[in-house]
Amino acid sequence: MSSLYRLHCIDGSTEFLKESEFSMHPLMMGSLSWVEYQQRLQEDHVIVLLPCGALEQHGPHLPLGTDALLSTAIAQDVAEQINGIVAPTVSYGYKSQPKSGGGQHFPGTTSLDGSSLIQIVRDIIRELARQGANQLVVLNGHYENQWFLTEGIELAVRDMGRDNPLRVMRVEYWDFLTEEILTSVFPDGFPGFALEHAAVMETSLMAHYHPKLVKLDRIPDVPPVNFPAYDVFPLRPEWVPASGVLSSAKAATPEKGALMANHLTKTIAAAVQQEFQSSTAISSPNGQTAIPEVVH
Ligand SMILES: [Zn+2]
Repeated sequence: MSSLYRLHCIDGSTEFLKESEFSMHPLMMGSLSWVEYQQRLQEDHVIVLLPCGALEQHGPHLPLGTDALLSTAIAQDVAEQINGIVAPTVSYGYKSQPKSGGGQHFPGTTSLDGSSLIQIVRDIIRELARQGANQLVVLNGHYENQWFLTEGIELAVRDMGRDNPLRVMRVEYWDFLTEEILTSVFPDGFPGFALEHAAVMETSLMAHYHPKLVKLDRIPDVPPVNFPAYDVFPLRPEWVPASGVLSSAKAATPEKGALMANHLTKTIAAAVQQEFQSSTAISSPNGQTAIPEVVH
């Protein structure tokens, strides 16, 4: 029996969705049989995307899984463009920092130590590479993850050895938003990606990809937080607004979400294709890519 997700809709109604509607997708690795997956590796030299997120408070209007949901949705869109495969999402991330994610004191913010995240990413990449997936994209949706993902990638590449054809791209999706897009989305000025936590960018993208998970009537209207130029440990909860939102999301719209999502899909897909075309040319001058048999 498949489990059910209960969705509380903006209009107050409750809706149940089967788990399969979230996870079943022809481009999702977890939906494929090993035979189908091996065929994609051998025949298509397929690019595999690994979305990474977090379980972290995103204000009273967005779900705890926002970073994982967004990185997964963007990875699916990119995979459609490049005929890639999306591996199951790393849904937990590094600890929420007060100045970029509100901090660890919010109920539901459930995080990994940096060393754990490094090992998870290292193990997944090494496993994928062992089976012949040697063009990987780690697509990050959680600001605090980035250097731990980097270390996991570095160690996996070192584990596989210099002669292995493994190539990994690390992508923070927000880095692909151009000045022009940011000006349209933030006509009154862009507060910076750290303060964008649970604000206009993430709320608009969620309104585009997962409208039923956004509670529009619960968006707090707060001025951008003015943090000191340093961090303290343990954190000071009083630095962070009680809502957990670091700048207002009032200006979020699904149209802004669609604008960003379309731009991100197009530009990330183009970068991935360009990077792997050129690295394939460098690593395999004869055009042959060695795909080992899957070890059972
Ligand atoms: Zn987020």
